[in-house]
Amino acid sequence: MGAIQLKNVTKKFGDQMVIDDLNLSIEDGSFTVLVGPSGCGKSTTLRMITGLDEPTSGDIYIDGKKINDLTPGKRDIAMVFQNYALYPTMTVRENIEFGLENKKVPKEERKKRVQEICEVVGLTQYLDRKPATLSGGQRQRVALARAMVKQPKVFLMDEPLSNLDAKLRGQMRVEISKLHQRLETTIIYVTHDQTEAMTLGTRIVVMKDGVIQQVDTPQNLYEKPQNLFVAGFMGSPQMNFLDAVVRINGTAVTLEVAGQSIPLPPAKAKKLIDGGYNGKTVVMGIRPEDVYDSEMFIETAKCVFSSTIKVYELLGAEVFLYFDLGEFPMTARVDPRSNARPGDTVRFAFDVEKIHVFDKE
Ligand code: ADP
Ligand code: MG
Repeated sequence: MGAIQLKNVTKKFGDQMVIDDLNLSIEDGSFTVLVGPSGCGKSTTLRMITGLDEPTSGDIYIDGKKINDLTPGKRDIAMVFQNYALYPTMTVRENIEFGLENKKVPKEERKKRVQEICEVVGLTQYLDRKPATLSGGQRQRVALARAMVKQPKVFLMDEPLSNLDAKLRGQMRVEISKLHQRLETTIIYVTHDQTEAMTLGTRIVVMKDGVIQQVDTPQNLYEKPQNLFVAGFMGSPQMNFLDAVVRINGTAVTLEVAGQSIPLPPAKAKKLIDGGYNGKTVVMGIRPEDVYDSEMFIETAKCVFSSTIKVYELLGAEVFLYFDLGEFPMTARVDPRSNARPGDTVRFAFDVEKIHVFDKE
C-alpha cells in the first residue's frame, strides 16, 4: 500500500512562495512523474513527502493517514537522489545491506533480500566490489538497490539519472520501468527532462513556478496540452507557435497567419465561436511533425506556405528543417528522403486537424 495525497500544500522559504496550494492524489502502485523546469519546486515537493522539509501549510497523507508529524524514518519511504552517496569503503553487498541493519532485519532475511534485489537490478556479479571499481550506471544501480531492499511503501526518485551519459540513461530508464512493473510499488519520479517524463510516467504532473499546470497521461499531455506552457514544454523539437487573428463567419472559422487563411475543423472552431474570439489575436500551435514538405500531402492540403530553408539537420531517421513564416521561426520534422536543402524555397503545409489554439494570456 502506498497511496499519497497532498492537500493545499504550500511551502515558503522566507518570503519566496515555492509551492503554491498544491493538490495532488497519487494512487497506490502508480508511476507518477513530476516534470518542470529547474527551480519550479519538484525537489521541494519530494522533500516534503519524505519529511526532509516541512510544509508551511497543508497536509500530506499516506494511505489516508496524515504524516505531517512523522519523522522521515517513520514514513516508510525510500528516496534516491541525483548525487547518490555510496560508502566508498564498503562493498556493494555491504552498501545495500546497510539500510537493513538499521531496520533491525535478521541476518538471514537480510542476505536473502540483498541477493534478490541484486538479481533484479543485475548486480549479482559485483557484490564484493567496492564502488570505485564500478561504472556510473552500476553505481546508480547500487543506489537503487539500496533503496529498494528496504521494501518501502513509496519510492521517491529525484533526477536519479541526470549524472549518466545519454546511452546509459536510456538503458536505466527501461530498467526502472521494468522494476516498477515487477515491484508494483508507488513511484514518484522527478525530472526536468520531458523525454524522460514521457517515456517513464503512466501519469505526468507538469509544474511551473510551484503550480501544477496539468496532470495527465503522456499521450494526453502531448496531444491535448491545456495551456501554452505545457504545449511548449512537452515535445522536442518544441511545438511551433505563431500569432494568428481569428475570423468568424457563421460557423466557419479561419486563422489568419503570415498572409494566409487557415480553415479550422469544426470542433476547434466551436471553441473560438463560444469564446467570442472574432478579430482577436490568439497563439496557433503546430508540432514539427505536423508540418509537411511532401508534394503528395501539399496537393490536398487546405493551406500552403512558401519559405526558404535556413538550416537542415539530418538525424538519421528524420530531418529537421528550420525556416521562418513571417516573423515566426518554424521547425518541420520531415522524412530523411526530403530533397530540401538550405537556401531552397520550399512549399509547406500544415495538418489542420493537428492545429492547437491558445489564448495569448
Ligand atoms: P526543482 O527541484 O524543481 O529544480 P527546488 O524544489 O529545488 O526546484 O527549488 C524550488 C525553489 O525553492 C527554488 O527557487 C530554490 O531556490 C528554492 N529553494 C529550495 N530549497 C531552498 C532552501 N532550503 N532555502 C531557500 N530557498 C530554497
Ligand atoms: Mg531538484
